Amino acid sequence: MRFIACIAACAALALSQAHGQTAAPYEGPLFDTHLHYNQEAWDGTAGSFPPTEALARMQRNQVKAIIANSRPNAGTQTLAAARETRAAGVTVVPFVRLYRNRDDYNNWFRDESIHEMVLAELARGTASGPYRGLGEFHLYESANANGPVAKKLIALAEEKKLAVLAHVDDVAVDLLMANAPSKGRALRLIWAHTGIGGTPVERVQAMLERYPLLMGELSYRPGLTCEDGRLCPEWRALILKHPDRFMVGSDTWVNQRWSAYDEIMRGYRTWLGDLPPAVAQRIAWGNAAALFDLR
Ligand SMILES: [Zn+2]
Repeated sequence: MRFIACIAACAALALSQAHGQTAAPYEGPLFDTHLHYNQEAWDGTAGSFPPTEALARMQRNQVKAIIANSRPNAGTQTLAAARETRAAGVTVVPFVRLYRNRDDYNNWFRDESIHEMVLAELARGTASGPYRGLGEFHLYESANANGPVAKKLIALAEEKKLAVLAHVDDVAVDLLMANAPSKGRALRLIWAHTGIGGTPVERVQAMLERYPLLMGELSYRPGLTCEDGRLCPEWRALILKHPDRFMVGSDTWVNQRWSAYDEIMRGYRTWLGDLPPAVAQRIAWGNAAALFDLR
């Protein structure tokens, strides 16, 4: 009888889990690994998100640490120095953004003045300590990964053990890795969006296996979630296969993302609930915390 009861109950449980009906949202801390505090968020004319507002959003979503990178770097410097940051219990992991303005998006990889700006910013550091990475940068054409300044910055990042946050396609990841002195074995590359153009899951998996320090940040990743914001089966399988390689981020690239910050974090908590708790904790917090030696 008990066996029969289990068959029925267990089948029902498996079915409801498969449909994501019983998985509760992840409730632990979050590490926002793709946060911009750009000028328009705080400049006072258009800016509706002064530090108190930005930090209130992090605090109420249990975002305990952020990779901060901002156009221009003044936004990151502000968060790194703000009284409110400490009051909110948020650890700032600062990255040097390669952009002073919008024009730099299309030119940074060949503009020597960007290289100089990066060196000056690294020398200056922040009130939250030294910069830990470079980026986010974009390459709208993969071949620009071979631009002279892109090459120099990749070599610099590897040498100084700085992470790079790269919004690029899979072809450009290969080129950037090839330009690293280690040929990609020792470059800490955080792949922003893990292929925003929808790089096939099998290709993502092959890249993770080829490059031991490649990490995938999952904002805007097409095909990640399916019905009701739950993980799609092929992504769930990939994450379970490589639980130490993925992270989450808000990508507050426009103010609308600050407006939607609560919703974005709620979305992550929903699908993180589809994973075993220990795996969810790694994706939400542990992988990034390990990368930057946070407690
Ligand atoms: Zn971004």
